[in-house]
Amino acid sequence: MAKARDASITIIGGGAIGCAVAYFLAKAGHRDIQVLEASELCAQTSSQAAGLVGQVRLSPERTRLAMNSVAFFSKLEELTGVSPDWLQCGSLRISLTPERTSEHLAMADVAKDCGLKVRFLEPSELKEMLPTIEIAKVHSALWCPTDGYLQPNSLVNAYVAGARSLGVTFATNTVVTAISTVQNRVASVSTELGDFSTSMVINAAGPWASAVAQMVGLQLPIVPVRHEYFISEQAQGWHRYLPVLRIPDLRIYARAEGSAVLCGGWEASAKSLDPRSINATMPLSVEPDFDVLAGFHENIASIIEGLDDIGVQSVFKGYPAFSPDGKFIVGPVRTIEGFVMAAGCNAHGVSGSAGLAEHVLESIGPNPSPYVRSLSPQRYLESSWDYPNARRLAQSAYENYYALGASAQGGSSGVKS
Ligand SMILES: Cc1cc2nc3c(=O)[nH]c(=O)nc-3n(C[C@H](O)[C@H](O)[C@H](O)COP(=O)(O)OP(=O)(O)OC[C@H]3O[C@@H](n4cnc5c(N)ncnc54)[C@H](O)[C@@H]3O)c2cc1C
Repeated sequence: MAKARDASITIIGGGAIGCAVAYFLAKAGHRDIQVLEASELCAQTSSQAAGLVGQVRLSPERTRLAMNSVAFFSKLEELTGVSPDWLQCGSLRISLTPERTSEHLAMADVAKDCGLKVRFLEPSELKEMLPTIEIAKVHSALWCPTDGYLQPNSLVNAYVAGARSLGVTFATNTVVTAISTVQNRVASVSTELGDFSTSMVINAAGPWASAVAQMVGLQLPIVPVRHEYFISEQAQGWHRYLPVLRIPDLRIYARAEGSAVLCGGWEASAKSLDPRSINATMPLSVEPDFDVLAGFHENIASIIEGLDDIGVQSVFKGYPAFSPDGKFIVGPVRTIEGFVMAAGCNAHGVSGSAGLAEHVLESIGPNPSPYVRSLSPQRYLESSWDYPNARRLAQSAYENYYALGASAQGGSSGVKS
């Protein structure tokens, strides 16, 4: 690993976002880039992700972003020499009610407008694809053959390999403790090893992004909200090519992990951290909440046969960062030249990493699109908000991840995966 150094561009955070941004910037011709990571690469939130990549969404922007991600993941090995272990096994959105089916019909319309192939399955087709499903409970099933999942560590390794080949350096075990500005311009970053000059800082610090923003005196509502899933013992009939399942009426998602079941969900009562309580050196550890996990288990066992008595092998957990409006927080800050945000992933930061990195690239270019401008941190820097309310909204974005009837622009349904 390299050491921290003077660099034109310093990216803080070596998770999926920081590494994707490093790769996309370098690929676009930016030079003299370093990534500074407090622990190891892909060791925090990104390492915990389920790796689901879902393109079927209510908003056309998110649908297109996810479609771009899928196209990109399919060629990443060719580009970097490292496979992200992307498996295009397809996905099923299972509806248990007519209301949910209406929502899925709307999603299918958005998909069609965006050129994404999806279709509703006949019951016999569903049973053939997923023999253990209790078909009598299913109202409809929307199939997207090009969805799938990847392994987050492999994805980050691919970004890192690609970025390194273009000259990016990565310094691990390097905590940025301060950022200095001169005449409202980013000038240097401080670490244990000393100060290093830099003219651009990109804040890709995940759930610590609010603390990093505070280093330059900015308050941004980037709220860590707890999320977890379990991996079961081996389950009969489960294999890696089974489609990814989303069963929003039961608030759960699932996929096979080898021949085990990976199952997570969006519990009705979210737990968040106050961003003001987090500092740059603070580990964010999460204890498994077995009551919540038992709820996910009960829900999946209520619709998939053979899982009643299955044991849990491991639990993955962390604090993905949510924003109050459910949208990414991406782009330069007007009042501090050279300070750029790449955060607020709303539990979408692995599958959306490539798209978000492209947004960052576009945001620092001459002519960002209206959509990319709508992600600007200025929306929070130029309006009044307070932390308790920001937390409530971020928790609500989490709790309503699979809720019916939320608006398609931002908000809870804007982030549906
Ligand atoms: C259980 C779970 C399941 C999930 N499933 C999915 C999924 O299926 N699909 C999906 O797309 N997303 C999923 N997510 C969300 C996804 O993991 C996050 O959106 C994504 O990892 C965010 O990436 P990041 O790089 O912003 O954050 P991180 O991976 O947390 O990276 C931020 C990095 O910044 C570093 N850092 C912080 N402060 C400093 C500092 N001062 N100096 C130096 N370094 C610093 C940290 O050490 C950390 O490594 C899931 C999350 C969880 C917890």
